[in-house]
Amino acid sequence: MSVATITPDATTVDWEAMKADLAPVAIIDETVLVKKRSRDFFWYSPVLNAQLKKSFGDLVAQPTTKEELVQCLAVAFRHNAPIVLRGGGTGNYGQSVPLHGGLIIETLGMKKILEIGPDYVRVEAGALMADINAALKEHGREMTMFPSTQDIATIGGFIAGGSAGIGSVANGPLREPGNIREIRALSVEETPVEHIFQNDDVLRIHHAWGLNGVITEVTLRTVPTRDWISCMATFDSYAVAYRAGFALANRTDIDRKLVSVVDARIAAYFPRLDNHVPKGRDLMVSLVPREQVEAYKELIAAHGGQVALTMDDAERTAAGIPHVFEFGWNHTTLQVLKSDRSATYQQYGVNDPSNAEGVAALHAKLGERAWMHHEFSRYEGAVTASDLPIIWTQDEAELRAVDEMYRTNGCTVYDAHTYQVEGGGMKADYRHLAVKKRMDPKGLLNPGKSRSWADVSHLDADEIEALAE
Ligand code: FAD
Repeated sequence: MSVATITPDATTVDWEAMKADLAPVAIIDETVLVKKRSRDFFWYSPVLNAQLKKSFGDLVAQPTTKEELVQCLAVAFRHNAPIVLRGGGTGNYGQSVPLHGGLIIETLGMKKILEIGPDYVRVEAGALMADINAALKEHGREMTMFPSTQDIATIGGFIAGGSAGIGSVANGPLREPGNIREIRALSVEETPVEHIFQNDDVLRIHHAWGLNGVITEVTLRTVPTRDWISCMATFDSYAVAYRAGFALANRTDIDRKLVSVVDARIAAYFPRLDNHVPKGRDLMVSLVPREQVEAYKELIAAHGGQVALTMDDAERTAAGIPHVFEFGWNHTTLQVLKSDRSATYQQYGVNDPSNAEGVAALHAKLGERAWMHHEFSRYEGAVTASDLPIIWTQDEAELRAVDEMYRTNGCTVYDAHTYQVEGGGMKADYRHLAVKKRMDPKGLLNPGKSRSWADVSHLDADEIEALAE
């Protein structure tokens, strides 16, 4: 029997009956705690902060096993309750904010590391990435990549909401074939069913923001771990630092897993580096295997830079310096926002990463409006660069003016100020939406996060899938 798609409405749900039906699954119904779990890092964006700060769920469920998760989904299905999955709640676009209220399912209790194979790891969705890496290290392995939030973010949240991170300059982003081997996800039906996605089909679930299935388990490729040395080098100008970063990202004989280039004005907001890294100079942050540090130093010298810091983990910890990746990726933004909330950020793809002159010209044009910060990655073998600048405004019109400057200087805007999955420079993903129709026929999962769902939800799954061709 086919199930009709509905417009989920938390105000029509009998929450007391829901609570009774959820027992014995642990729940949280204290308003202040439910509100806390209704937020993520959307506050980086003044636009999203205004739109999302009053969106709250009604109840939190905390399953610790797959059976309990199945029960949560079956109960929500019966009561027509909107459902939002939540891992660590570290997303930046309100991905785990319940737009229409409803049941928040927090996965942190489902954290087992199920299997470590010679070149893979199979884990439950709620496992923290720092724990996965710690378990892998004992086997001489590590994740191909992880976000700078690894200490508090889950693998399920990364697969559903993230894209790339520390390791991507060597191993590509999550979507690079082979990095995600398998995703298991539950449907939301009277009796939820677990579906298995392998090979290319993992892209049917990856980066769908938890709106088309509930991830239970993930199998990931792993790589040999190394004796990583945290490295920082400084340069006279941003253009030179960028050129050195691009060169290091391209050096396949140096197995770097992080290449971040940070404007000197942003680096001034890193007090933990005082006494270690000279101020007022543009910065490159890297992780390099111990046996290749000399080659790294030669590269820095050849670009006129100065190596300021090379420390292994024990030395770094003794010096009171956090993981160096906490000065890269979206942690760079956080370091500034910790002291000054009048800034925001944006995400831009550099269409020609080899064009350091173009980067320098834009850097000069931006002046004090925006301070650059580039991350180098790799996709299908080619080095890519993205810019996550600090932008000094709270005004959307000024932000859009900066977007325009980037566009006219050869960059693509991946908008960080939208709460819809298609809004960040992505087109409608009909493969995601066809899976949603099959796995979540009522449309209960993360309602409001897909602009295109309303246009296609009346179609059957095959018709939606056909739109992708
Ligand atoms: P959450 O924020 O809890 O959820 C993210 C999305 O996944 C939501 O849509 C949620 O509904 C969905 N979801 C969660 N669990 C499941 C599940 N089991 N099944 C289905 N859907 C689910 N991102 C990067 O890609 N790279 C970075 O380097 C990076 N650095 C960051 C630095 C900072 C300081 C911050 C604040 C964010 C950063 N992010 C980065 C974004 C974010 O931290 C990561 O994407 C992170 O992996 C999200 O994991 P989480 O457990 O916090 O997910």
